[in-house]
Amino acid sequence: VSFSFSFSSSFFSFLFCKMASMTCRCGKVGLEFTDTKPRVSTECCCSSCFNRVNFLAKKGGPALPADVNQPLLMSKWDNYVVVQKGREELFAYKLTNETLVVNIATKCCHTFMLGRHKGYDANCVTTSTDFPLFFDVDEDYRHASSRWFTDQWDPQRLKSQQKLVGIWVDESKDDKPLIGDDGFEDILKRQLESVQREIIIKKEGGETFDAILESLGGNIVIVSESEK
Ligand SMILES: [Zn+2]
Ligand SMILES: [Zn+2]
Repeated sequence: VSFSFSFSSSFFSFLFCKMASMTCRCGKVGLEFTDTKPRVSTECCCSSCFNRVNFLAKKGGPALPADVNQPLLMSKWDNYVVVQKGREELFAYKLTNETLVVNIATKCCHTFMLGRHKGYDANCVTTSTDFPLFFDVDEDYRHASSRWFTDQWDPQRLKSQQKLVGIWVDESKDDKPLIGDDGFEDILKRQLESVQREIIIKKEGGETFDAILESLGGNIVIVSESEK
């Protein structure tokens, strides 16, 4: 029997490669992404990234990294996620009434699942990548290309960490531009391009972050100061 191929290699890798997925710590909730690795991963030192997982840790969720000088890892994926199981365990919350960042975590084991900043995240959702469990994901998914909001930390704290270009907001200027260490411009440009890239839908059944929120009844818990 002879036949010829007319499919591209990427079509084949789509057919035969599993897409990356993740579960909460107890395994009740499963989400699948549309690629084998994030569009981009970055480290973050900002207090909201820490507070949103600290809120969960205080409720019995996964502990923060043992090294208190370790920034948290954030990964950006297509804003098109398949809820494989456990939707009824999801809930939404945000740290203040005004914030543009909405988070989704699990009630079963208080694992952070997805976050999204309507502006910055463009066509993406964000995972706080230290907390859920990942499957079928490319090895280098934890490879961060920059470290955000290093200005919020004493530089001593980062001495023992890998070297990464820092990026932060210049609060002294009226238009609050993003600035950073030497060479931040190119890295920032590539990151912005990758979060803004259109989503190519390769499979059925995915949902946007907002559609998942809506399926939870649109209810968003506002975290009180004492819970952070
Ligand atoms: Zn769970
Ligand atoms: Zn952050």
